[in-house]
Amino acid sequence: MQWKELKSRLLAAGSVRLTGEPAEQFIAKSAAGPGAGGSGAIFFVMGSHRVKLAVNPLSTIEVAHRGNGTADLYFDGKLIGGRLLEPGFHCPGQAFITVTGSCVFSCRYCSVPKIGGRRKSVEEIMAMVESVRHRIHAISITSGVKESIGEEEAYALEVVKHLASFALPIGVSIYPTEKTPDLLHELGVAEVKFNLEAATPELFAAMCPGLDYTLLWHVLDRSVALFGRNRVFSNVIIGLGETDTELETCIWKLTAHGVIPVLRPLNPVADLAGTPRPSAERLKTAYAMHESALAAAGLDARLALTMCTNCAGCDLVPGREE
Ligand code: SF4
Repeated sequence: MQWKELKSRLLAAGSVRLTGEPAEQFIAKSAAGPGAGGSGAIFFVMGSHRVKLAVNPLSTIEVAHRGNGTADLYFDGKLIGGRLLEPGFHCPGQAFITVTGSCVFSCRYCSVPKIGGRRKSVEEIMAMVESVRHRIHAISITSGVKESIGEEEAYALEVVKHLASFALPIGVSIYPTEKTPDLLHELGVAEVKFNLEAATPELFAAMCPGLDYTLLWHVLDRSVALFGRNRVFSNVIIGLGETDTELETCIWKLTAHGVIPVLRPLNPVADLAGTPRPSAERLKTAYAMHESALAAAGLDARLALTMCTNCAGCDLVPGREE
């Protein structure tokens, strides 16, 4: 089975049952993103390819850890040899840190407001990065919104100022104000991700009450002007109720603006628990749209230095799955 086919099917399933030798060091615990607050996730790797899957004792798909990271995937009657990657914080090769693990907003697909985590201190974040410094090539930060969007931005800027001392590429994904791209650019941030989340403004309004879709487009355009092409990203969730045509329109609009879409399969949690995950066929259809749109715009997802497009654990990333 080709990797792209296998990864589509694994992402559609979303989870694996982890058996065999103890694998604690290979389990990523996340305070944000897919699987936030769950029982963790693993990165299964085949050659240069990887996929991140939630650990679920009830999954019909098994990954058996044989020791030292060597692992066997049992899928569709086949045994596929591979290995497990050790995460930095949240993902391998990066210290990807959630600054504030709580949120005053209540996006319907997001479990962060329900988890109600805390804000990490600057000292704590610096110590976390220091502890994995020897095995990371980038630092990425994301955040909920503790009190207000402006207050969170100010705190994220403070964190970034300190992180600059590591002299590693820094990626930042927070809910922005109009000034966020300029402020992050002044601090030397390498890449930014501002998430549209939904393919249409109507779906966004239904999914993210109180947040502003128009502002996100404005901020994305300003970011491309400052950070350049191939340095600005935006998550669009697949499976919120959009049609393929709506998804395609959104993808082509983002790439025409110089933004690399991150097409994220819905992880049905929070208010959307019970909503079906997108099928492998749908993920492959979206991948084909994504690939064509990036090529037409002259964008290259393989150049990403930080965050999800560099990680490629949770999504199909054009150029990384062949
Ligand atoms: S793709 Fe993004 S959300 Fe998924 S593990 Fe990697 S960095 Fe985290």
